[in-house]
Amino acid sequence: MANLLARNLRREIVKGEVDLMLFDKSNTYILEAGLLPYVAHAFDEEDLKYNKRTLLDPVIKYYTGPSGTITYIDLKNRKFKTQDGKEYSYDYLVIALGCTYDISQPPGLKDDYHTYYEFEKAKELREMLERFTGGSIVQMVYMPDVPIKCPIASGKGPLLIDSYLSHVRRLRGKYMVTVVTTVDHLHAQPEVNKVLEERLRERGHTWIYNFEPSEVDPKKKEVIATNGERVKYDLLITIPLHRGPEVIKKSEIGDPYGFLPGDRYTLTYRRGKEHYDEVYIVGDVANIGVARAGAVAHYEAYVVAHNIASEVKGFGDKILFFGEVICPYLETAYTPYDKGRAWMPWWTYAKNARPFVGTTWGWYLMRTYYLTIPLTLRGLI
Ligand SMILES: Cc1cc2nc3c(=O)[nH]c(=O)nc-3n(C[C@H](O)[C@H](O)[C@H](O)COP(=O)(O)OP(=O)(O)OC[C@H]3O[C@@H](n4cnc5c(N)ncnc54)[C@H](O)[C@@H]3O)c2cc1C
Repeated sequence: MANLLARNLRREIVKGEVDLMLFDKSNTYILEAGLLPYVAHAFDEEDLKYNKRTLLDPVIKYYTGPSGTITYIDLKNRKFKTQDGKEYSYDYLVIALGCTYDISQPPGLKDDYHTYYEFEKAKELREMLERFTGGSIVQMVYMPDVPIKCPIASGKGPLLIDSYLSHVRRLRGKYMVTVVTTVDHLHAQPEVNKVLEERLRERGHTWIYNFEPSEVDPKKKEVIATNGERVKYDLLITIPLHRGPEVIKKSEIGDPYGFLPGDRYTLTYRRGKEHYDEVYIVGDVANIGVARAGAVAHYEAYVVAHNIASEVKGFGDKILFFGEVICPYLETAYTPYDKGRAWMPWWTYAKNARPFVGTTWGWYLMRTYYLTIPLTLRGLI
């Protein structure tokens, strides 16, 4: 986002007419899209981590650590505070603070919490899968209210883990995967859902829809639903409850879950009658009815960078975001027994994903997509 703004406003920044500032509490960028291939041993740690400073255009004033950690946002007075006690004002504000996880629910989860949704836990899970000898793997997708990020990840997760366990560890027949999910599908896009169900079924795995967990019992190794149904596991993998960042709650500018409401086409902040046209919401922090995905944040950033630059330069032309989503679907990884199969389903607010299957060609397309991510992050493609 900041790199795109730097590109669009380079002349004004160099002339000293515009200040472009980026505040980020952490200087390490983790490529979350790589967490699953990492768990499935198709990526290594160095494929996932980037030093943000090296990705940024030098015209951006960059604050990180305590001086980059936002502690309060005051939309009415166009101000925000950072952890080092400083206060800043702005003419335009882009909020792209991502989201957090709440593992206090369902009760018992935090005592047996394993996931590929965050780096340190993915590292632990990768090691557990290296030692896994067989048994029941249960993946619990816990989204009773707001959608999770990268909804296809929770579908391709079991497929890629299966690809690793059967093709690399040679454990086919010694384990079974069951997905339990609070909703009535593996993916909200019907064509994506169809492919995920077919692939899981043909590998002998299964799923339970509308499974509302009331408790995880780590001693008995069971997930218990509100209707009394119990599912036993040897390894529990959880996609945890998603919540907005703490600073949004503290600043009282979000919805009840801590996410930011807004206009899904202009990406400006809107909460009931309250609206701030100079405040844009981008990526996972927004609750605007579009999938939470890096590709979405990327397309949103184009719209926001264009519209801010257009206003600053006095052109006035604006473009809209039409809900473009591309979410890589990975079916198998490249192993000695399989060349890898994948596809890149695409959809928008108005158009659903078209029928597709995973192909080896799709695997190469997807690899190219991941390999060009450093260029995407620099705002070059
Ligand atoms: C397992 C997994 C697989 C995925 N696969 C894909 C995929 O294949 N394709 C895809 O498109 N998407 C994928 N995603 C989703 C994608 O990673 C996210 O949607 C994307 O990272 C969202 O970008 P963002 O900028 O909104 O949030 P983030 O990338 O989370 O960035 C938020 C930033 O805000 C900073 N921040 C937070 N709080 C503060 C604060 N108080 N002060 C200052 N800075 C702060 C953070 O340090 C961070 O830099 C996947 C996600 C997961 C978990």
